[in-house]
Amino acid sequence: MSDAKVKSMLETAVVVRVSEGLHARPATQFAKLAKEFSCSLQVLHGSTSADAKSAVKLMLLGIREHDQIVLRADGADESDAVERMARFLSSPEAGVQSATAAQTADATACQADAAAPPVPLAAADTQDSPPPLTGVPASDGLAFGDAYVYLPEPLRAARQWIEPHEIDAEQARFKRAFDDALAALAKQFDALGDTDDIADALASVAQSDEFAGEIRARVQSGRDAVAATLEVGASLAASFEKIDDEYLRSRADDIHGMTRQIVLRLTGQQQMSLAGLTKPCIVLASDLTAPDLARANVAHIAALVCTRGSATSHLAIIARSHGIPAVFGLQVADDRLRGVRQVAVDGTAGHVWLEPPAALQAQFAPRIGAARAQRAALDVYRDVEPVTRAGRRIRIAANLGSPTEIDAARAVGAMGVGLFRTELLFMNRRSLPGEHEQADVYRRVAQAFAPHPVVIRTLDVGGDKPVPGIAFPHEDNPFLGWRGVRMCIDRPDVFKPQLRALLRAATVGNVHAMLPMIADLDEVRRVKALIAECARELKNEGVAFGEPKLGIMIETPAAALTADLLAPEVDFFSIGTNDLTQYVMAADRANPHLASLYRSNHPAVLRAIGMVCEAAHRAGIEVAVCGEAASQPDMIAVLIGLGVDELSMSPACVLRAKKIVSEC
Ligand code: PEP
Ligand code: MG
Repeated sequence: MSDAKVKSMLETAVVVRVSEGLHARPATQFAKLAKEFSCSLQVLHGSTSADAKSAVKLMLLGIREHDQIVLRADGADESDAVERMARFLSSPEAGVQSATAAQTADATACQADAAAPPVPLAAADTQDSPPPLTGVPASDGLAFGDAYVYLPEPLRAARQWIEPHEIDAEQARFKRAFDDALAALAKQFDALGDTDDIADALASVAQSDEFAGEIRARVQSGRDAVAATLEVGASLAASFEKIDDEYLRSRADDIHGMTRQIVLRLTGQQQMSLAGLTKPCIVLASDLTAPDLARANVAHIAALVCTRGSATSHLAIIARSHGIPAVFGLQVADDRLRGVRQVAVDGTAGHVWLEPPAALQAQFAPRIGAARAQRAALDVYRDVEPVTRAGRRIRIAANLGSPTEIDAARAVGAMGVGLFRTELLFMNRRSLPGEHEQADVYRRVAQAFAPHPVVIRTLDVGGDKPVPGIAFPHEDNPFLGWRGVRMCIDRPDVFKPQLRALLRAATVGNVHAMLPMIADLDEVRRVKALIAECARELKNEGVAFGEPKLGIMIETPAAALTADLLAPEVDFFSIGTNDLTQYVMAADRANPHLASLYRSNHPAVLRAIGMVCEAAHRAGIEVAVCGEAASQPDMIAVLIGLGVDELSMSPACVLRAKKIVSEC
């Protein structure tokens, strides 16, 4: 370190030792420390400089560990200030609560259970316990309790052959199981909102000679009904899997499902369902589908642990919406989960203990209690419409994926919906949803939050999350491929029913439409032309419709860089920091090895957000953030400082965000 008096100022060169550099938390604390001094304080980094009292400006400098910076102070307490600030920068731990917290803070979205930033159990707290199994932290919070192992038992035939005198009874047994299974599947499709023709199509496959006919023939020749069903089901499904059409290929799943249902009935095994949960349990599974979860009473799911899945999967988003701690991609074979009776979960750190010792429960209990108390204390913010100390009103809205989340969002006083992801409506089913059905859903959500705005995002899918009824070509790079609005523009048969549904729902008044993955102005203009065409059609048909405001997501670098050109064309922007970070940093959002690069608080991302806010405000439109960064405690003040007008997040994070904004 070298000191030099320059005119009346004091300058000191410092090599930054703060672990991982001046990212959000250390920068905030550094700025806070700087504010304790009356002198002016500048940080010089290469050719750029910033006021040390502004955390946002500091972050924008992108100061990394080992960088050399210069502290410049001018004023009465300059030596004291420089000495304290240099000491801060020389400490690797400065601004970091714990190594684990620093590693996980960016990977997790929100701690459902506290007003403070996520704090996983520190290593020291659990050192007397066996080491945890690790997975991806998918939803914050702690849980300890009884396990519910949701793993289908492998299906096996107890015997292969039957005696000739048993054949008639075996045929009758198969018929009962078959009829029963078919009726149950039809009911299940019904519950998922599928149309009758899909259930009929499946029934006709099941009743075909190739399935039921072949099973009956094998039983007639002396095969056990379970063995025959398993063999025929596997071979028919394999034939479907070879078909060169995505939609038909996925019918193999229906055959597997049908086979399973019949065999369960033949063997008298219990059909597992989360609907059967009668008390809070920690669900252990290989994977869960959104319909699996939809059937459950979420109040009875204390935590979710899956051996597959990632933090950005839809299941993770739903878990966060409901404040259910979750760890996905747990590194253990499915079979290890069988027979487990008790589990401890730290969703913030991604740790799971199977059959934890009593000592660990003693460590968890007070923290779970404290979290509950903190959650209860946040209730006072339910009806608060937060205003910062500087007098800026910030709207705190909810991100929803289905109408089932409306109640959770209203219960925490969400000021509208900043992002309604329509993908789930298209994915949890066997065929595309129709215009009427979509209009109904959008209207229902709009009415639930009126007069607050409800932003419905148009279909945002691609080859990585295909939907039935849309054939996606194979792509080497699906995240850079035919997805979101690109696919929709090319498929008016898919897009126009959604746009018409949006126009029809807009009679409610607070419906806004939003386009994902915009990269080029021409895309906006083409969608506007399609909307105008839909409006003309509805008018000619005499169908009532409204004029929803139109916004776009800023989630490609191209959109951020041309925000000034896009702003005059639309009514609002919403920054999708999940994808914007992925594309700006060229770091796959689902790849845990890139967690240190995939950071929404990286200066590159923050600069992009700042540019977008400036361009939007110059054009007189508002900017929201609806990616996970909107709910991260460290990011809220930063985003507001950059000019963001609305933050939209999982319902479980709304109260905490209202508190943080009110104290900003
Ligand atoms: C985003 O990219 O930030 C976003 C909100 O959209 P999604 O997570 O659905 O891609
Ligand atoms: Mg996105």
